[in-house]
Amino acid sequence: MEALTNRLKPVDRRKMNFWERIYLPAVVKGLSITLKHFFKKKVTINYPEEVRPFSPVFRGLQILNRDEEGRENCTACGLCALACPAEAITMECAERKPGEEHLYREEKYAAKYEINMLRCIFCGLCEEACPKDAVYLSETFAPANYQRKGFIYGKKDLLIPDPKTDPEGFAKAKGSRIKHPQGHGNEH
Ligand code: SF4
Ligand code: SF4
Repeated sequence: MEALTNRLKPVDRRKMNFWERIYLPAVVKGLSITLKHFFKKKVTINYPEEVRPFSPVFRGLQILNRDEEGRENCTACGLCALACPAEAITMECAERKPGEEHLYREEKYAAKYEINMLRCIFCGLCEEACPKDAVYLSETFAPANYQRKGFIYGKKDLLIPDPKTDPEGFAKAKGSRIKHPQGHGNEH
């Protein structure tokens, strides 16, 4: 039979000698490998107590941005959804009412904004497409979940904390990648 790879190894069917029959040399050989690894640098880390530094271009969980006055940046223009190759984003637009100027930066806002994390491939195209600096990919993971519906992230999961009430949470959510709180998406 023709081999598909060059890793083919014929089975050794010759009779075992004395040392092979008592398995002792094989056990010692196995233990020596274990012992060698005791003195090697550990490749594992104690997550979540220890966290590996992310690459500067790491793209994690999306975050819906606010301006420094705590108003939502998103105008529900739909460009992020249009740019998304995985069709992971859905939204519903609403008009800002008088008296809501402190909540939404523009006349229109996303009454509903959802990202399906099971579809998302973290490509970052939504961030690139957004003209309002409203969505960006942060330095955190989407946490594990046992249910599919747990991966549909709505506004309450995606919106960053209000800088007026929680400045620490706001700064933490922004992380080190986002330098400009206002402006345009491509400035990141
Ligand atoms: S996140 Fe940006 S691109 Fe997406 S709807 Fe909001 S403003 Fe438009
Ligand atoms: S990161 Fe890519 S796949 Fe995920 S929501 Fe944005 S555009 Fe879609």
